[in-house]
Amino acid sequence: MNKKISILTSHKDEIANFCESVSYPKFHATQIVEWIFKKYAVTFDDMSNVPKELRILLDEKYYIHSCKIEKIDVDAYDTQKLLISLHDNKKIESVIMSKDDKVSFCLSSQVGCAFRCSFCATGTMGFTRDLTTEEILAQFALMRSITKRVTSVVFMGMGEPLANTNNLFKAIDIINSSRGFNLGIRHITISTAGEVVGIKHLIERDLDCRLSVSLHSLKDEVRNEIMPISRRYALDDLIRMLKRYSERGKRMITLEWTLIEGVNDSVNDAYRIVNLKKEFPFKVNIIPLNPVPHYKGKCPSKDKMVRFKSILHDNGVEVVERYKKGRSISAGCGQLVIKNN
Ligand code: SF4
Repeated sequence: MNKKISILTSHKDEIANFCESVSYPKFHATQIVEWIFKKYAVTFDDMSNVPKELRILLDEKYYIHSCKIEKIDVDAYDTQKLLISLHDNKKIESVIMSKDDKVSFCLSSQVGCAFRCSFCATGTMGFTRDLTTEEILAQFALMRSITKRVTSVVFMGMGEPLANTNNLFKAIDIINSSRGFNLGIRHITISTAGEVVGIKHLIERDLDCRLSVSLHSLKDEVRNEIMPISRRYALDDLIRMLKRYSERGKRMITLEWTLIEGVNDSVNDAYRIVNLKKEFPFKVNIIPLNPVPHYKGKCPSKDKMVRFKSILHDNGVEVVERYKKGRSISAGCGQLVIKNN
């Protein structure tokens, strides 16, 4: 039996050729693409202006996706955490964050994660598999179907996106494309724990999206302790690659710094960040540690966080503190997890 083809990843011309091959005018491809990327249809039957017989033929040749929203948790700030089931019944979580007129989608890229950062609940799941391109796009379509708009996308959910570059880059192309979801490339951010080879692929691919790096420490021994990926890629290698990345298009990098009491919140830690300014341009996102059951680290006191931020700010480093939305529904940074997946 022939395997069905993903319509989310098919080009409009291919769909038009298919329509013609089954004796329907090519213009139906425009309607079909609109249903997929503007009206977020989940079945061919939804496509009410497409002839019924053509819908049946489409359904024989193509599939849309088999992802489903199982549950939505909402917090007081209108942060929505979606539990999404995949075709093999594995599950992922994705988050919709709203602030004023901005709506941001936090997408997952893998089922679980191999990197096991000590403060991250996703890391406790271990790695199951990469998400396919269709599954990444399906997440976007499902989220889009329940929001009026989207202003940005960040690959900061479950998994390390730059360990799944093939599927990720194809998905980004389609999210960005005017024939796809049509979201500007500078509104798309890849967040990596420091996948040096993945950053190299990003440079080679010349994708103009934004890059965010979970740095959390500028001492190898601390990173080795809290982020096992740094046993594979030493800090020097990571910094060299980030320099290369920023030199190519004068691109500003965001450094993520989850503040953990007694681990990376000292005055010296702050000055290490200031010293990094001579290597490449960046801004810093300070993230107060979110609580997760398996990790005993604590968020520093308000005073310590203010001191840390002031050192950066007073020395010319652009710094923002990530707001704590999503915490109460375990949708904050490092809190996504599926038990018994
Ligand atoms: S922080 Fe990112 S890379 Fe680290 S375990 Fe969690 S999902 Fe994986």
